[in-house]
Amino acid sequence: MMAFPLQIAWDNSYAAQLGEFYVSCLPAAAPEPTLLQLNRRLADELGWDVAAIDPGAAARLFSGVELPAGTQPLAQAYAGHQFGGFAPQLGDGRALLLGEVIDRHGRRRDIGLKGSGPTPFSRGGDGKAAIGPVLREYLIGEAMHACGIPTTRALAAVATGEQVMRERPLPGAVLTRVAASHVRVGTFEFFAARDQQDRVRRLADYVIARHDPELVADGDRYLRLLASVAERQASLVAGWMLLGFIHGVMNTDNMAVSGETIDYGPCAFMEAFDPQAVFSSIDHGGRYAYEKQPAVARWNLARFAETLLPLFDAEAPADAVGKATEVIEQFMPRYEAHWLAGARRKLGLAAESRDDEADTRLVQDWMTLLARHQVDWTLAWRKLADAAEGSPESVVSLFGPSPEVPAWLARWQQRWDAAGPVVADRLRRVNPIYIPRNHLVEESLAAAGDGDLAPLERLLAAVSRPYDERSELAEYAEPAPLEFTSRYRTFCGT
Ligand code: AMP
Ligand code: MG
Repeated sequence: MMAFPLQIAWDNSYAAQLGEFYVSCLPAAAPEPTLLQLNRRLADELGWDVAAIDPGAAARLFSGVELPAGTQPLAQAYAGHQFGGFAPQLGDGRALLLGEVIDRHGRRRDIGLKGSGPTPFSRGGDGKAAIGPVLREYLIGEAMHACGIPTTRALAAVATGEQVMRERPLPGAVLTRVAASHVRVGTFEFFAARDQQDRVRRLADYVIARHDPELVADGDRYLRLLASVAERQASLVAGWMLLGFIHGVMNTDNMAVSGETIDYGPCAFMEAFDPQAVFSSIDHGGRYAYEKQPAVARWNLARFAETLLPLFDAEAPADAVGKATEVIEQFMPRYEAHWLAGARRKLGLAAESRDDEADTRLVQDWMTLLARHQVDWTLAWRKLADAAEGSPESVVSLFGPSPEVPAWLARWQQRWDAAGPVVADRLRRVNPIYIPRNHLVEESLAAAGDGDLAPLERLLAAVSRPYDERSELAEYAEPAPLEFTSRYRTFCGT
C-alpha cells in the first residue's frame, strides 16, 4: 500500500494523561471502504493538506483501515443516566478516539470514528453503524454549526462495503467526528460511581486545562468548573430552543462538558410550534420533549455536581453542598438570560434593552400565537423580515384569520430602534430559512441508501448557508405536509 499522503501532527493528550480512563482498541477492517462525503472546509480548518486527500486515501483513513502514524485509537470509559436510570458502564461501544490535533486557530480537536466496530464496551452490540444514521449525524451536525450552535462536526462519512444487521440488513458506514473533546458528564459518573475520587480529580484537572485554562490556578477551581460547564450548557440549550431543535436523548452520557451538542441520534427539528413536541420512538414519557430541555440540562448538571462533591469538600469544607446547589440554582436564570438575548436578536431588537419584562412578554405572546395556530417555527421567524420591510402579508397568512397577529406586529414595531429595512436585515442574519426539514432528511437518506447522494448533497448545500435565500431552493424552505410530521418518529442511531 502507498504511504499515506497526509502529514498529520497528532498530539494525544487524553491517551497520554489519562491511562486508566480508556481501553486501547483497533477499528474493525472495512472490507471495501468508499468515500461518501468529505468535509474539505473542516479538513482545511484542521490544517490538513486538502489537495493531498484523494477519495481512496480518505476512505481508508476515515474508515480506520489505514491508521496514520501517531494515532492511538482508544475507547473511552463512561457511565450515564439514561432516561433517569443510572447505567454504571456504557463507554465507547461503537466509537474510537483516533487522537487529537491542534487546528489552525490553535484549538485542540478530537478526531474520532463512529461505527468502526466492537470495543470492550460494546456490551453485545456490533459496534457498527448503518449509512442512514451516519449521514443523518453528518447533515444535522453541519446544519447546527452553520446556525452558530456549538456542536461536534462531521469530517467524513465512508461506506464500509459491509452489511450491518438491524431490523433488516443495511449498508454499513463510519462517521469521522471532530469534537472539542468527548468528555461527558457520564465520564465523571463512571469514576465517581466507583468511588475513585482521585480519578475524578484527575479528570476534572484535565478538563480544566483543556476547556477552562483560566481556572488552573484558582483556589475554587472545581466549583468554578461546575459553573463554567453550567454556563456553556445554559447557552447551548438556549440556542437549541431558539432554533427549534430537539436533541431527543439528553442522557448524561450525551452531555459534553465542552458545551458542544453531541450524539445526534433521534434528534429532530420542530415544524409547527408545539412545546410538547417529541419525536424519539423510545421517549414514551416525553422526558426529552422540546420544552423540557432546559430542565433536563439542569438535572444533568446536578448529576455532574454530585460527582464533584468530594472535590468541593476539599476546596470549601464549610458548605460544599450549599455552594454547589447555588450554582445549580443559577442555571435557570442564566438559561433565561441567554434565551432572552437570543430571542431579542430573533426579533431584530437591539441587544441592549431596558425592559426585560416587556421583551419577555412580547416574545411569549408571539410564541403563544405560534402555538395556538400551529405555525411553522422556522418560517414564522424568518418571515418577520418581510413584515419589517412593510409586507406583513407573508407572515400574517401563516396564521390564518387572526386579528391578534396584526396587533402583535404593531406592538413589536414599537420596540424597534431602527428603520424597517435595517431590522429586516438583522432578522435575515439570525433567522434561518433552511433547516434540515425532517421529510427532506428522510428522503435524502433513503436516496443515499440506494446509492444516490445527490439529494443529500443538495440539502447539505442548502443548510450549510442557512440564512442565504436562494430562489432555486424554494422547496427546502417549506414545511413537511402535516401528515408527515404527525407520524414522524426518530430512532437512536444504532
Ligand atoms: P447512544 O444512546 O446512542 O448515545 O449510545 C448509548 C450507549 O450504547 C453507548 O455506550 C454506545 O457506545 C452504545 N452503543 C450504541 N450502539 C451500539 C452498537 N451498535 N454497538 C455497540 N454499542 C453501541
Ligand atoms: Mg451517546
